[in-house]
Amino acid sequence: MTDAKRIRQLPSYLANQIAAGEVIERPASVLKELLENSLDAGSQQIEITIERSGIGLIRVQDNGSGICKEDLKLAIVPHATSKIETLSDLEQVISYGFRGEALASMSAVSRLQLSSSVSGQEFGWCLSQEGREALPKLMPTPKRKGTLVEVRDLFYNTPARRKFLRSDKTEMGYLEEIFKRIALSQPGVAFKYQQGERLQKRLPACRDFDAHTKRVGLLCGQSFVEQAYYVQAESNGLKLNGWLGSAKALRSQADLQYFYVNGRIVRDKVVMHAVRQAYQDICLPGRYPAYVLYFELDPSSVDVNVHPTKHEVRFREARTVHAFLSYAIQEGLKQGNSGALIAAKIEPEKIDFSSFDLGTVSRSVTGLNPQTSDLGTLLCVLNDELMLLSNKEGLAVVDIKAVRSILLRDHLKEAYFQEGVSRRPLLMPVSVVVGKNVAKLDSNTIDWERLGFEMTQVASDVVLLRSVPVMFGSVVDKVQELLFKLLEFNQVEDCIACIVQHVIENQPLSETDKKQLLEDLKNMDYLNPDIGSRRIFKQLDLAELREALLS
Ligand code: ADP
Ligand code: MG
Repeated sequence: MTDAKRIRQLPSYLANQIAAGEVIERPASVLKELLENSLDAGSQQIEITIERSGIGLIRVQDNGSGICKEDLKLAIVPHATSKIETLSDLEQVISYGFRGEALASMSAVSRLQLSSSVSGQEFGWCLSQEGREALPKLMPTPKRKGTLVEVRDLFYNTPARRKFLRSDKTEMGYLEEIFKRIALSQPGVAFKYQQGERLQKRLPACRDFDAHTKRVGLLCGQSFVEQAYYVQAESNGLKLNGWLGSAKALRSQADLQYFYVNGRIVRDKVVMHAVRQAYQDICLPGRYPAYVLYFELDPSSVDVNVHPTKHEVRFREARTVHAFLSYAIQEGLKQGNSGALIAAKIEPEKIDFSSFDLGTVSRSVTGLNPQTSDLGTLLCVLNDELMLLSNKEGLAVVDIKAVRSILLRDHLKEAYFQEGVSRRPLLMPVSVVVGKNVAKLDSNTIDWERLGFEMTQVASDVVLLRSVPVMFGSVVDKVQELLFKLLEFNQVEDCIACIVQHVIENQPLSETDKKQLLEDLKNMDYLNPDIGSRRIFKQLDLAELREALLS
């Protein structure tokens, strides 16, 4: 027997360096956080400079409200934020940030300088910190409206993280994508983006429709904007406007899909389903529509706090939102094929909310009897395999594994073909002997990274696995075995099926997961109704139950 190892509390700089990995995965995450902070501070003009693909320097200068001298030191402390004070503030949060983790994380893994001036102060002040161990220094600087953040030598003190980074070109691509997303999200703000001394993009603030169109053209390509239909729709406090790519602009990847909810980019099931449905007549399998759409609604009717990276949201009136979006986009696409930009106004009374019948779709997915639309309340979970529900008809039985596998499969598929499955870096990379299958690393049918696996070949038959899908949680014991199996496959669908099985076998459901599963089951209408032949739900009515008792 080995001696018990003693428990010790990690020094705060080390804990912060580990935690920083959650927020700051790569240079593009730094840029995203800095730009969001500048926007939260009400900036009208933002200038960005990148050096050495963001590893050398990421510099963001804004003309926002600034940070006062007394708060500068606090700004880099974990969980220090000016954006929320109480839990109930989360209900109404409209700022991009509110977790107070970004600057703290950056200061743990880079050389950070934060200079800021506020009105009423004689000078500006500059705070510099070199990694978490060092004490921050505060010096006066000339006064200049707003804040300047310089993040140098990213990951200089966490070499393992630096190794996770891809080629300069790929990291530059990620940085440009973040810039594009944010510049599209706030047309009223002027941006300048340079790489070293070289000016890449200068985007003046858009004051009117023409200027906005020009910005979309500059960021998404003139050819996109020229063939797109402009849509504008409004109904009961829901507003949509933006550019819908026509059939001519279908793409082989989902790489030109920008959907903003109250100025925040979103990849949401309800939204994606509504868009897909609206495009179904013109979008061939394997092709993806292109769009830049802005959706606005009352902030209290959408929860942006569902997902830590905040790409997912939860609409309180999901059905209404779905019906509105799908109708508005469909109408927008019907505008003829003149190729010209057309502005269409959709009249609210034309929208038929009843056309989206949750009941029908949900029943066709779950195999429910058309009369039984309420799934019922959870009575108990039997052996982690079956859920027993009681409802008006009697009892219903749900096959947990089947529901889980459908949800997981659809989630993975959608993520893979959209922005990639969310990955989590392993604290210690794992080496796996994969034999001849090492050649599959360069597979042209499977993009391993999009599937959530970041790995490199380190010997003729060995790969080093650096990241796994976030959904694996902390259970990574059997990941070597899994990877070995995955590299046998030639089709992504087979890999997805294998990953789903791995998660189901290795990750027991918590009580909260079970409740969530029931919620997801109710919402399965938004998922692809193709569930194969497996039965996932059985309703037992009172007569059947009585018969079972007597027979
Ligand atoms: P969060 O954005 O979640 O509050 P951050 O770590 O990103 O956390 O920032 C901490 C705080 O620093 C913010 O709440 C804000 O008060 C201040 N801050 C950061 N960047 C800026 C900026 N560019 N302009 C004004 N204030 C800023
Ligand atoms: Mg922030």
